[in-house]
Amino acid sequence: MFTDVFKGFERSRAVKGIFGDKTEEVLRNLKVEFVWFGYMGVDNSDGHLMVNGRYLNSGDRTEIYLDVVHELCHVKQWMEGKELFDSNFDYVDRPTEVDAYRYAVLEAKRLGMSEKRILAYLKTEWISPQDLKRLVKNMDVPLIEG
Ligand SMILES: [Zn+2]
Repeated sequence: MFTDVFKGFERSRAVKGIFGDKTEEVLRNLKVEFVWFGYMGVDNSDGHLMVNGRYLNSGDRTEIYLDVVHELCHVKQWMEGKELFDSNFDYVDRPTEVDAYRYAVLEAKRLGMSEKRILAYLKTEWISPQDLKRLVKNMDVPLIEG
């Protein structure tokens, strides 16, 4: 279960901002499945969290925290019946992704991460430099390179 793997998230202001009064209940009932690919994701069939155990053990702690915040946004979207993987949109234009990225980036800024570091965090192997520009524009959060 989520609360066996991730400690203290029920006290995170960002997580409380997602689930409100239901935070503890949602986290207590959230299943975590360890997978051997990628970083993290949400299974669209029942809304559980998938986590790459190797990433969890070797990744940057702050980035893992931000990833969890991002994925918990998807858990909330799934609970609201939203389509998480709407293929009518490119990844960086998909409203569920843009919202999750925006929320995680605002949390990163609250933590005092520099814009440069936030951009480095957002730069993943499946987002081209052009797509990253589009994502930042879609998020409508000021992020200046350099
Ligand atoms: Zn996402």
